[in-house]
Amino acid sequence: MTERRRIGQVKEVTSLTNPLIKDIRGLTQKKNREESGQFLAEGLKLVIDALDLGWTISTLIYAKNAKGRPHVEPTALKALNAGALVLEVSEKVLSTITRRDNPQMVVGVFEQRYGKLDRQTPGKGETWLALDRVRDPGNLGTIIRTADAAGASGIVLVGETTDPFALETVRATMGSIFAVPLYRASVPEFLAWCAKHKAPLVGTHLEGAVDYRTIDFKKAPTVLLMGNEQQGLPQELSSACSSLARIPQQGRADSLNLAVATGLMLFEARRHLLSLET
Ligand code: SAM
Repeated sequence: MTERRRIGQVKEVTSLTNPLIKDIRGLTQKKNREESGQFLAEGLKLVIDALDLGWTISTLIYAKNAKGRPHVEPTALKALNAGALVLEVSEKVLSTITRRDNPQMVVGVFEQRYGKLDRQTPGKGETWLALDRVRDPGNLGTIIRTADAAGASGIVLVGETTDPFALETVRATMGSIFAVPLYRASVPEFLAWCAKHKAPLVGTHLEGAVDYRTIDFKKAPTVLLMGNEQQGLPQELSSACSSLARIPQQGRADSLNLAVATGLMLFEARRHLLSLET
């Protein structure tokens, strides 16, 4: 089949009440994301990156007035070839889907993906990140983006956390949601995994005795553990850490924002591995 004919299979939708649009809009709600196992990613670059990285797309939506723009039609064709439904919609429909006045011209609906933690073994030079009950979607998105930039091998979401596939979180990841493997674990599952692989578990704590800059991160793969925004690390987790690190502070602030603290820890843990040449 020629490229022209495949693009011809695109379905045009103008009505806000179209059931397909209603279902896609529904993905802004956690309940619907959980039921369907799908999520929304906005923006042409994100959709292109996701397809390149082999994520499964079920629907691609693009604005009618974006049709002639570079990469839009080839991306629609790629989505069609991957078996996705492709919808050409008005800007108003896109605004409704993403709840934005100035929506991105392209939105993709993708299958969520979590890895299996028990199949992972932290390897030499790897840094893993574990987040205890992270609550704030913006924090989680920023952390996923930062973990990607620092070269972390994966993120373990420990306990009940905010949904990494929420629209706000995906936005904040700036595409890194497709690059960093995510895992879910209960506290016992996470601790059993750490114990099995004997990877040093470096917790972060406002009462930590160790200055984070003095830890030797070169010795072994490290698992960095960050505490919940309100409560910090519970005893059950902090007592399992091989060291409790603190980032020295001045001024009146009690603590650093979780995403900022995570960024400092990740880049310190990977300092010996990062260079301008890589
Ligand atoms: N009220 C909380 C507490 O008492 O721990 C504050 C939690 S803080 C906003 C969120 C997380 O960021 C902490 O659990 C810790 O993992 C990390 N964090 C923030 N500031 C830190 C610091 N100065 N040293 C080490 N970790 C820090």
